[in-house]
Amino acid sequence: NTFAEIDLGEALNQNIRRCKYVRPTPVQRHAIPISLGGRDLMACAQTGSGKTAAFCFPIISGIMRGQPLQRPSRGVRAVYPLALVLSPTRELSIQIHEEARKFSYQTGVRVVVAYGGAPINQQVRDLERGVDILVATPGRLVDLLERSRVSLQMIRYLALDEADRMLDMGFEPQIRKIVEQMDMPPPGVRQTMLFSATFPKEIQRLASDFLSNYIFLAV
Ligand code: AMP
Repeated sequence: NTFAEIDLGEALNQNIRRCKYVRPTPVQRHAIPISLGGRDLMACAQTGSGKTAAFCFPIISGIMRGQPLQRPSRGVRAVYPLALVLSPTRELSIQIHEEARKFSYQTGVRVVVAYGGAPINQQVRDLERGVDILVATPGRLVDLLERSRVSLQMIRYLALDEADRMLDMGFEPQIRKIVEQMDMPPPGVRQTMLFSATFPKEIQRLASDFLSNYIFLAV
């Protein structure tokens, strides 16, 4: 069982080889086929399990294969990412962004990161250069939404990383506000992946509110 056997698109498969990933980790082995198959996913995954690639590969592959979408461009200043990765901290967001950029090298898929505690203007300029995958912390994203700098109407992939930590940090209101701003697409159009190390009631409630007909993965 190797990545070479999984068809993620030539450019992405090449980047995986360049990263020297040969065999998928357990969470990758199960999560990637589920996500490529279009199902929502709630996965138990600890730090170091390879979860970043588990949600990045299906997103990048899906965007590469997707029809070129007509995104609104004139007369609006908001940008329209196709995928959103929410993460609890600035450090984790930066780390995800760095990995996602390696994976998306020469795929045409553009990744931008936005987190709090840093000037927003540089992040707005990064966004304006074009964004397909936005990696963000919840508070800074709410700020960008309130300033109409980002629109979530075109989001086709949503990944919630370390969901339990985001709730522990008190981000539930922001997360709900963010998800409310996504157009309710017909079932199967938006794919959601929720990663968490623990599964208390609050996480289960989040899953039943945000995921549809999902597969639960514990590895
Ligand atoms: P993560 O859990 O996503 O933070 O990944 C933990 C570390 O494992 C990172 O340094 C990854 O680059 C690395 N990694 C993830 N998946 C693989 C894989 N299939 N083969 C080798 N290294 C990997």
